[in-house]
Amino acid sequence: MPEGDPTGDGGRIGQVSFSSAPTERAVEVDLEAIRHNLRHLLEVASPARVMAVVKADGYGHGAVAVAKAALEAGASWLGTAHISEALDLRRAGLEAPVLAWLHTPESDFAGGIEQGIDIGVSGWELDHVVAAARRLERPARVHLKIDTGLGRNGCPPELWEDLLDRALEHQEEGLLRVVGVFSHLAVADEPHRPETDEQLRRFRDAVAVAEDAGADLEVRHLANTPGTLSRPDCHFDMVRVGLGMYGLSPFSDQSAEDLGLRPAMTFATVVAGCKEVPAGQGVSYGLSYRTERPTTLGLIPTGYGDGVPRIATGGPVRIDGRTYPAVGRIAMDQLVVDFGTQGLIGTERSPLGHRAVLFGGAGDPPVEEWAAASGTINYEIVTRISGRVPRTYLNKGHAGD
Ligand SMILES: *Cc1c(COP(=O)(O)O)cnc(C)c1O
Repeated sequence: MPEGDPTGDGGRIGQVSFSSAPTERAVEVDLEAIRHNLRHLLEVASPARVMAVVKADGYGHGAVAVAKAALEAGASWLGTAHISEALDLRRAGLEAPVLAWLHTPESDFAGGIEQGIDIGVSGWELDHVVAAARRLERPARVHLKIDTGLGRNGCPPELWEDLLDRALEHQEEGLLRVVGVFSHLAVADEPHRPETDEQLRRFRDAVAVAEDAGADLEVRHLANTPGTLSRPDCHFDMVRVGLGMYGLSPFSDQSAEDLGLRPAMTFATVVAGCKEVPAGQGVSYGLSYRTERPTTLGLIPTGYGDGVPRIATGGPVRIDGRTYPAVGRIAMDQLVVDFGTQGLIGTERSPLGHRAVLFGGAGDPPVEEWAAASGTINYEIVTRISGRVPRTYLNKGHAGD
């Protein structure tokens, strides 16, 4: 990949019009949608700042391209789970503040400190961070994480004072600075649930204890996307947004459009084959689907090898302005749609080679339909689209080329 061209397309994208020259199989990411969503979330969160969460390769969208777009649109921070993901951002030339919060004893704490990555600490990591800082003779920047109820990482409230005391002792020694306190919400996508109030109360307590102990905090942060959109009392100094920046809704009763968000990812391919078959034709492994009448089957060249869940039979595919459900079992490389009619092949109505969209923004099936067909959530569908599918970028900005 050429230096300074994180999207790896040689700067081509932007000139390509996908409707007239469809890519064979691609995740198309609209960076203007990312910027729009980020600006919208910034407005909602203001005066709090925004951390753009780009873990898991930017929820499948491409971490570096998304991070650049988010920073252009006004994000102040980037967030990743792993230090290795944060280092990838540095390697791509991004100098913005980055926080990484999920570690193992094998994590590259020294690399993170050297590259100015802020490190989330829930407990055991403190000793590793301090040892690395001592070796490097460079203080680490640390955000202490309190478990306010999610029950994953984060320091249990009863150990909080001890963690703080130890961290502040190391701060005295010049080995680290406690710059942040944070936590993560468990049920903010269901805004009526009382557990969020309890988390908020515990978070306020933890911040107060830290400040009373002498921590001079730059940032207190608690809210994810649903917390940002539904709970202004959770904004504090900064919100950490992932899903909303990608233009998707975390709520079951509100669409992206209802929230003023634009889905950034379109998953598109082209029809790879058309075949007329009689009534009773079995389709795909297991022959779980049989045609009801003489019809035309369309072959769509994507499957679970590309991250389309095998269980998602019935998921929508949009072709020539109509939406067809995937019929029969989804295979590794392909799935099938039933056009319901014959006489298409060899005419100008033949769909062969025409654009086929599994999900996207306005006018295309929403990703939530694939999530519903798979018994999962929109987060998972976009994130699991595999590395086999090339990412292409629309509307690159100044920093994107
Ligand atoms: C993934 C993650 C986020 C972002 O959550 P969204 O719901 O996608 O906005 C925020 N904070 C932490 C700690 C996370 O792991």
